[in-house]
Amino acid sequence: MRFSRCKSLPTQKSGKRVAIIGAGPAGLAAAGFLICRGHEVHVYDMMEEPGGLLIYGIPDFRIPKKNVREGTHELAMLGVRFHMRTKVVPGEGVREGEIGFNEILRGYDAVIIATGTWAERRLNVEGEDLPRVYPAFHYLFHYCRVEAGYERLEDLPPLGRRVAVIGAGLTAVDAAAVSKRLGAETVYMIYRRTINEAPARRHEIENLIKAGIKWIELAAPKRFIGDREKGVTGVELIRMRLGEPDKSGRPRPVPIEGSEFVLDIDAALIAIGEIPTPPIMNKELKINPDNTIWVDKKMRTTMKGVFAAGDVVTGPSLIGNAIASGLKAAQAVDEYLSGKISWDLTP
Ligand SMILES: Cc1cc2nc3c(=O)[nH]c(=O)nc-3n(C[C@H](O)[C@H](O)[C@H](O)COP(=O)(O)OP(=O)(O)OC[C@H]3O[C@@H](n4cnc5c(N)ncnc54)[C@H](O)[C@@H]3O)c2cc1C
Repeated sequence: MRFSRCKSLPTQKSGKRVAIIGAGPAGLAAAGFLICRGHEVHVYDMMEEPGGLLIYGIPDFRIPKKNVREGTHELAMLGVRFHMRTKVVPGEGVREGEIGFNEILRGYDAVIIATGTWAERRLNVEGEDLPRVYPAFHYLFHYCRVEAGYERLEDLPPLGRRVAVIGAGLTAVDAAAVSKRLGAETVYMIYRRTINEAPARRHEIENLIKAGIKWIELAAPKRFIGDREKGVTGVELIRMRLGEPDKSGRPRPVPIEGSEFVLDIDAALIAIGEIPTPPIMNKELKINPDNTIWVDKKMRTTMKGVFAAGDVVTGPSLIGNAIASGLKAAQAVDEYLSGKISWDLTP
């Protein structure tokens, strides 16, 4: 997977320093662009290696980590400096493995925030904190760390024979496929709308159905059943019908009173969406109500010299969109550093 935009570097250096926070596809695409424009590029990331969700979210059978590693290695060869195991925190960094956002602001001519969506949305139903009810994003993170060689398969929390995956997006699809690979005999995919409204691509869901995954549409969890000792043993679902379109334009699922039924399960993976995680939350950086970072058409945030790109700007999206957004921000940074654009913003 290529992130760089050139084979060799320009002989003339710009003398400008750029910090990129987040080494996912958005940050890497930006790094690949800016290094080829003669800037000094430093990438900060809290994980062990660059790649973002390409390493820590998406399993190997979908995107091989080897291909991602080839691309990040090429960037390092071109001179991109990776500061791994370095979490960017508000203010000044005090603990080992941290760097303060203020330190970054002082040290660089421009900054790109590309920190993605690393928090999981909760269902907020009874029993969600029972043992073996996992946020799918979190479970896949550990599964991918096993694949990447940072954790042992034996330490992955057990799933058992019957797994319920709640949701129908990319995370849900991978969670269902991983559950099967880990030996689950029965995997249910439970979605409150129908297959036609599912965010995952149709062929992916059809592949799962072919692989034996049981699709339960028009149903939503009301509560998880079990206790702290035994863990989850069931999920109570309520049937839904489709109502008028909601803000997303899709028909709103409406619960059908009295239609509750119970499914026996040994584990549940909740995949109902991820939430953007900006590294700072202060008055100077405008954050939208859905936690995305506000940017203008040049990817400028409300802080001078600070740009943003990728899922932290759009909300959960796709690799191609993250790459395009990283390139757009990098292009704007290049224009800013060469004085072609200024900082005149009205959010
Ligand atoms: C399970 C799953 C499967 C998916 N499958 C597909 C697919 O098949 N096809 C597709 O196109 N898309 C898929 N996606 C979506 C795709 O992975 C994302 O859209 C893309 O990775 C977003 O890129 P990004 O660079 O914005 O963020 P990310 O890839 O999330 O990278 C963000 C980086 O920022 C770092 N970071 C976060 N906070 C800090 C901080 N405070 N300090 C330092 N570093 C920080 C993280 O460690 C991470 O490396 C999938 C997503 C998931 C969760």
